[in-house]
Amino acid sequence: VPVNETVHAPVNDTVYDTVTAPVVATVRGLTRRFGDRTVLDGLDLTIRRGEFVALLGRSGSGKSTLLRALAGLDEEVEGGLKVDGSVAVAFQEPRLVPWKRVRDNLTLGLNGPDPAGRAEAALAEVGLTDRARAWPLTLSGGEAQRASLARALVREPGLLLLDEPFSALDALTRITVHRLVLDLWAAHGPAVLLVTHDVDEALLLADRVLVLDGGRLAHEWTVAAPRPRHRDHPDLLTLRAAL
Ligand code: ADP
Ligand code: MG
Repeated sequence: VPVNETVHAPVNDTVYDTVTAPVVATVRGLTRRFGDRTVLDGLDLTIRRGEFVALLGRSGSGKSTLLRALAGLDEEVEGGLKVDGSVAVAFQEPRLVPWKRVRDNLTLGLNGPDPAGRAEAALAEVGLTDRARAWPLTLSGGEAQRASLARALVREPGLLLLDEPFSALDALTRITVHRLVLDLWAAHGPAVLLVTHDVDEALLLADRVLVLDGGRLAHEWTVAAPRPRHRDHPDLLTLRAAL
């Protein structure tokens, strides 16, 4: 996907100052070992409200391990980890429960008032109103990923974790879902941490780009407007060199 400035809506820039906005997630000295392998090695990270952060890194560098820790799905991490508010995750594979209709996937384990109504509203936001009663296996890849995003959003997370959610989509569907993610982010204002291995995607979507290497955040860029569009832009060259 070419880096295309017009896809990005800088709506949130005016809502939050991401230097002074409240901290949503704090990670200090996070370490995760698998046997004698240290995958995360004293990692530090701060994410503030309204930020859209992309996390790049080679396959096996520990990106998903970090996301699982942030989502509270890993009890064997060492170090400090604090997340304010709820966390929701969308994965590369949508992981919908196949024997529950799309709408019932959204309400599964959903607390608070009127779960059905909130599920309908979330499905409307991702353009899936007419698929609410469909079985997950009858959805296209793009529809399933949109359903997965709706399931995450209906939980009104303070921190939305996206683990390569676009990787399995064809190039055209990917552009549509990029747009959707930016719209949802702008409308709901969660902090987003997006794992991707695509440099163009990171620079297209995020305000801050991190590179995970050797168990730590080895590089960090703030993406300034206007977004780099040219393939020879220094930011792109620097990022590619770091990967
Ligand atoms: P990434 O998402 O960056 O591709 P992962 O976080 O999935 O990488 O994995 C990082 C490393 O940790 C890999 O070498 C992987 O094999 C290892 N790893 C992840 N989960 C486990 C596990 N449950 N048991 C053993 N090793 C694991
Ligand atoms: Mg991964």
